[in-house]
Amino acid sequence: MDKTEYKDIFVFAEQREGVLQEVAAELLGKARELADKSGERVRALLLGENVAPLAAECIARGAHAVLLVEAPELAVYTTEPYAQAMYHLVATRHPSILLLGATTIGRDLAPRLSARLATGLTADCTGLEISDDGDLLMTRPAFGGNLMATILCKEHRPQMSTVRPGVARPRPLDPGARGDVERVTIPFNPVKFRTRVTGFEPAERSRVDIAAARVLVSGGRGMGGAEGFRLLESLADALGAEVSSSRAAVDDGVAARERQVGQTGKTVRPDLYIAAGISGAVQHLAGMEESGYIVAINKDRTAPVFQVADLGIVGDARQIIPALERRIRLTRSK
Ligand SMILES: Cc1cc2nc3c(=O)[nH]c(=O)nc-3n(C[C@H](O)[C@H](O)[C@H](O)COP(=O)(O)OP(=O)(O)OC[C@H]3O[C@@H](n4cnc5c(N)ncnc54)[C@H](O)[C@@H]3O)c2cc1C
Repeated sequence: MDKTEYKDIFVFAEQREGVLQEVAAELLGKARELADKSGERVRALLLGENVAPLAAECIARGAHAVLLVEAPELAVYTTEPYAQAMYHLVATRHPSILLLGATTIGRDLAPRLSARLATGLTADCTGLEISDDGDLLMTRPAFGGNLMATILCKEHRPQMSTVRPGVARPRPLDPGARGDVERVTIPFNPVKFRTRVTGFEPAERSRVDIAAARVLVSGGRGMGGAEGFRLLESLADALGAEVSSSRAAVDDGVAARERQVGQTGKTVRPDLYIAAGISGAVQHLAGMEESGYIVAINKDRTAPVFQVADLGIVGDARQIIPALERRIRLTRSK
């Protein structure tokens, strides 16, 4: 098939226990933005058992249509049934682009699919655009995060990408949106199923979810250890914020790994990101530069973090943070 015969953008609408995942909403919004540019349509691929009610949510989030597969084999995620179902949907309908979230499920599923479809996969993308020729420009950190590479899949279709949660913003829900829902039956080959789910025990949810926080007070090695982080916690308390950190602070044992922002941590997009004693290495910036408003506090005026900051304060963060907190508490008490 000629590559011009492939069209439309397919998005894996990842759901867990009947809840559409935030990353799926983000990708549907991003896909719609790309489709509006290329004149294509967006289809959500919704797989599971008893997940039909989520189809309307997919449409309200940007899908023109939904391909719905409901089967007992898909009740809980296991690799082979999902890979077979996704392969069937893609191989019979020939989309030009296929997007999945870079979650544990997306990262498990995408490479198997790309191998079966004999196409390329750009994993862990932090940016997607459409070129003037209609190719997907897939951007991701490369060479240990020291540069951002834009990767094209020129010869093969579909163009496949996993995208990190938090990279795109979901479109606001449009309850008036209309779209078709097509049910598809998959010719499963159970002989190839290698695992069987015998029970399901949900992991205890992490108490801290920095990716969902609207305000983050983030600290780096420049905070000078645990005592410096206590100043950040106190400021976060005054702001109703969460504390996050650079990897150096995690490596030093000052912050928990679940609080790490960046290429090997979480991608965050709060309305306000305060970076205190963080130099602004590319691997850190990759996880936070899309924040709404960035305040950087660093004693070195040449620190790279100032290049992405909306407001830069040159000085000792261990003095500035408590002063900021005092001012905030005073303003709030009035
Ligand atoms: C493959 C790979 C993946 C990585 N992934 C990540 C990642 O996900 N997240 C991440 O953060 N890093 C990541 N890193 C590490 C990254 O390269 C940097 O080493 C790290 O971000 C540095 O953390 P930092 O800014 O806290 O520390 P430093 O680079 O040591 O910077 C400390 C800063 O604090 C300033 N400072 C010192 N004292 C004060 C003070 N009293 N007041 C104000 N400022 C002060 C200094 O001027 C300096 O700019 C990764 C690296 C690699 C190779």
